Amino acid sequence: MVSIPRKIARLMAFALIVSTILLVGVNSGGWNFRSGSKSRVSGDRKLVFSHKSSKLPQQIVEENYKTLQDILKKPIDEPKTGNLVRPPSDPNRYDRANATMLVLVRNRELGQVVRTIKQIEAKFNQKFHYPYVFLNEEPFTERFKETIKKHVSGETYFESIDKAIWEQPKSISLQKQADAMQQLETENVGYAKLVSYHNMCRYYSVNFYNHPRLQQFRYYWRFEPGTDYYCDLDYDVFKFMEMNKKTYGFVIALYDVEQSVKTLWPKTMEFLAQHPDYLHPNGAYDFLLENLQNPHKTLTANGYSTCHFWSNFEIADMDFYRSKPYSDWVNFLDSTGGFYYERWGDAPVHSVGVSLFEDRDKIHWFRDIGYKHQPYTLCSNRPSCAGCKTADFTYKHLRDQNCLTNWWNYEMSDDQKNIY
Ligand code: GDP
Ligand code: MN
Repeated sequence: MVSIPRKIARLMAFALIVSTILLVGVNSGGWNFRSGSKSRVSGDRKLVFSHKSSKLPQQIVEENYKTLQDILKKPIDEPKTGNLVRPPSDPNRYDRANATMLVLVRNRELGQVVRTIKQIEAKFNQKFHYPYVFLNEEPFTERFKETIKKHVSGETYFESIDKAIWEQPKSISLQKQADAMQQLETENVGYAKLVSYHNMCRYYSVNFYNHPRLQQFRYYWRFEPGTDYYCDLDYDVFKFMEMNKKTYGFVIALYDVEQSVKTLWPKTMEFLAQHPDYLHPNGAYDFLLENLQNPHKTLTANGYSTCHFWSNFEIADMDFYRSKPYSDWVNFLDSTGGFYYERWGDAPVHSVGVSLFEDRDKIHWFRDIGYKHQPYTLCSNRPSCAGCKTADFTYKHLRDQNCLTNWWNYEMSDDQKNIY
């Protein structure tokens, strides 16, 4: 049971955030933008969610799930951009994009990572031969490296992560951390007490793109051991990103565990009050602010819907993370200790970052990549997707976790909806 003082505290925190948002919105004035690019954005844009509904959240869940299924059932194939780059006849002479496959992985996950690599190779990389970067805070074993090399068609880089960068900063108060982890555990937040998980989330949020090996690359495709890829990809997805000026690509979008990001949004508002000019005029604000489907989440996360692109698959441009708005922001986030006093995930961090500081038209839903990471699957109705059932997203009791329809409803232009 929530005691009264906590309820009051929560209400006060919420009021503070709302007033901060309003204050910042008014003060900066610069948050009212004119966007040249798309007619659906005109006039004022503020960090305020303007959509209303008289329906109950449960009705909205059902409606959104139906929408998701309709979208996924529509027969599609490849993006019709007219500039897809096909597999080269001679891979040795192919001018690849500056890109790499990327995985953070432990030696003990060898079997699972091989399973996923086999699929990525069969569907995509045997045609294009992109290199792989394997990251680990422990040295990779010879067995790990030798086994991997048997399964990949591109160059391999096995890299260690500097422990000083991987482990939590000395500035984290151990007592405060222990208390916070205990509290999160009582609230059933997954991995609450697993320090390595907090390290992982922080590393993927703040540090990976500055790893000495990754500095030579611009784009990466992140994958995880044990995930499944179902569809043939007969075009170069990295060149797709480059030629169509995309910064971030995703497949699945979900709500997060709200207790894990309680102060991510308030801290971000604090940061924005100092740097209002960092906000992109055509950001994906509604995706971040929606409060209709799971209003309790937006409330507990103090104004953030908790919607995020699921980062266990992502194809993105690291130059965005290296840019001043994103890097200043995550360094500020890091200084607050929230990766340890809460359990901020790299997925909400990437998503909030790209939705606030980048043009939403540079975010691409890879509708043609059928993908699964337990317990969610997303597969469109595409002839070349083998082994996955179209529109079969997840278990019934988890349908309310779907957030992709917010992206579809609030952020995508008609052109983008029709690109497949
Ligand atoms: P979940 O998907 O949120 O349940 O998290 P995972 O356990 O799948 O971890 C996310 C990614 O980070 C996976 O690629 C893991 O292999 C990797 N990972 C998680 N913790 C560690 C760690 O302590 N060390 C290393 N090297 N990799 C890790
Ligand atoms: Mn995982």
